Amino acid sequence: MQNVVEINQAKSLKIQWSTIVGVTFFHAMAILALFTFSWQNLAAFLFTWWFAGSLGIGLGYHRLLTHRGFKTPKWFEYFLTFCGTIALQSGAISWVTTHRLHHAFTETDKDPHSPLKGLYWAHIGWIFRGTAQNQTEATMTRYTPDMMKDPVHRFMNKYYWVSSIIVAAILYAIGGWTMVIWGTFLRTVFGWHATWLVNSATHTWGSRRFESRDTSTNNGWIAAITWGEGWHNNHHTYPRSARHGLTWKEVDINWLEIKAMEKIGLVSDVYAFDLKENQETVSNSIKKAA
Ligand SMILES: [Zn+2]
Ligand SMILES: [Zn+2]
Repeated sequence: MQNVVEINQAKSLKIQWSTIVGVTFFHAMAILALFTFSWQNLAAFLFTWWFAGSLGIGLGYHRLLTHRGFKTPKWFEYFLTFCGTIALQSGAISWVTTHRLHHAFTETDKDPHSPLKGLYWAHIGWIFRGTAQNQTEATMTRYTPDMMKDPVHRFMNKYYWVSSIIVAAILYAIGGWTMVIWGTFLRTVFGWHATWLVNSATHTWGSRRFESRDTSTNNGWIAAITWGEGWHNNHHTYPRSARHGLTWKEVDINWLEIKAMEKIGLVSDVYAFDLKENQETVSNSIKKAA
């Protein structure tokens, strides 16, 4: 009964036709990749995937901007944010607002992609209705005041789609239309589903190290296609920790990149949960006992 009420509430949200048309068009274009394979196109896919998915979404939008799991110079924060815009998952302020809502109200009515409303809703349905994909000014001001005060972030949030046009133009100049199909359309669609699977699959399938109050799971398959974001039960339990994979078996490329950046002085004050010590530390100083 509870589920029926929630589904009806979801259905009352306004249908976002422009999102439906855009997402359908990108999927149709991505299918053309089947007929246009080349090693150069695959390389373009992998490079732009790393740029947008790992540096942009994983490090930028998620671990830095949403959870402030580490610090960077402002110029590098803007660079990571720019990388994130290439994933075409909305502007950073809107994305961060949606994700902070997900953590604050996990699996309740206020969770923008609550898995309790069904797998379809948690995966893709939520972007087709309501404002979760394009948050209102008022909601962003309430949940993301840190970024709303920043004119550079506001600008990038508004014009987030421009970077995809720039990237497509560069790919076209290098390798023609087939490279655009692989490096923009296929890669964007792949990146969407990878991120959405974190919302759907890792609230459904996988193992649970911690008895968190939600259904979040750790899932190696999802971690493999998201540069480490699939250790979602660890993440829900210690959201600020910039380290999601907590053992050597839990491969977390995003974490390894953050550690490498810390070594060369690009990031500092890194929050990390240490499983052996059972506590969260900030860089080298112990922050608190768990
Ligand atoms: Zn979650
Ligand atoms: Zn998170």
